Amino acid sequence: MSTGPVLALLGRLDQPGVELLTTARRVAQGLGARLEAVWLGPLADDDVTGLGAYGTERVHHLATGRGSSTELAGAILSLPERPTAVLVTTSYPARELAARLGVRLGGGVLVDAAQVEVVGGRIEAERTSFAATWGSRCAVLAEPAIVTVKPHATSPEPAAAPSSPEVVPLAAGASDPRVRVVERTERVATGRPDLASAGVVVAGGRGTEGDFSLLAELADELGGALGATRVATDEGWVGHELQVGQTGVTVNPVLYIGAGVSGAVHHVGGMRAAQHVVAINTDPDAPLVQIADYAVIGDLFEVVRAMIDRLRELR
Ligand SMILES: Cc1cc2nc3c(=O)[nH]c(=O)nc-3n(C[C@H](O)[C@H](O)[C@H](O)COP(=O)(O)OP(=O)(O)OC[C@H]3O[C@@H](n4cnc5c(N)ncnc54)[C@H](O)[C@@H]3O)c2cc1C
Repeated sequence: MSTGPVLALLGRLDQPGVELLTTARRVAQGLGARLEAVWLGPLADDDVTGLGAYGTERVHHLATGRGSSTELAGAILSLPERPTAVLVTTSYPARELAARLGVRLGGGVLVDAAQVEVVGGRIEAERTSFAATWGSRCAVLAEPAIVTVKPHATSPEPAAAPSSPEVVPLAAGASDPRVRVVERTERVATGRPDLASAGVVVAGGRGTEGDFSLLAELADELGGALGATRVATDEGWVGHELQVGQTGVTVNPVLYIGAGVSGAVHHVGGMRAAQHVVAINTDPDAPLVQIADYAVIGDLFEVVRAMIDRLRELR
């Protein structure tokens, strides 16, 4: 194993960001390496302090932001030291980057990893596949290890001794002439967390009959994201970007609440990895009720209203 740094790639100190730093620091400690960060986008003094609180010793600041995976991979390749490991929170762009870095650095790639740790000098992690019906434990045999880490798989923990990281500017790598960005569409700001990395997902299906207002209220009460089944998005009740499932977004929340959602295999494929599942359904035989940790059999409008009222009472 080389002694190059362990790199954490992030651009926000949100929940997934501090989880990533916690995991990356533990990996760095396990490998006897330094923790460094590649920070994407605007960097405030508070961010530097926060990065130091999690044990980051150096921040490579890519002020232009993520850019394309070619530009980001190029930036990482231009660092003065070859990293021992690169960790980034799982997302589609992160997986694309991991593949590109794996090829260009000749490293080993592990995607959607949880419980990442160093065992006998190499990185090991758990991952699930086939809609979380199979679990496996994997070791990365090639160096550097490029790991996309699932959110909500670890509790954030600041370093015992904070550091004062130095900030070093980093330039984007050359763009690939074969790849051209033809259009960018701004995501509509809802004030809710990103569905793919949200800690709480409140999803609605046909049972809502198109009225997502109570579910949105519950999501906001829990600080969660709103999700939906394909029926709901195909009906135009909510946008397609909210579709959870095989042909939609894969979610990894601590808590998934499905209201008026039957739990068809195509939907379950995208939420099976949720740590706790709550089903609200009038049908006790609905498949989602069968796989749920908790099920409430009843009309979702009554049940969700009661949940919101109770949550407000508890505050
Ligand atoms: C190739 C392919 C890909 C697909 N990909 C996806 C995907 O990515 N994501 C996805 O979601 N689907 C996907 N689907 C569709 C999927 O198979 C199901 O049709 C869909 O998930 C069902 O949505 P639903 O649960 O909203 O509706 P339904 O299956 O009709 O279920 C509605 C549920 O609401 C309950 N209900 C009704 N009224 C109430 C009430 N008042 N209170 C409480 N409960 C109530 C009913 O008992 C029922 O269980 C895909 C299908 C195909 C063929």
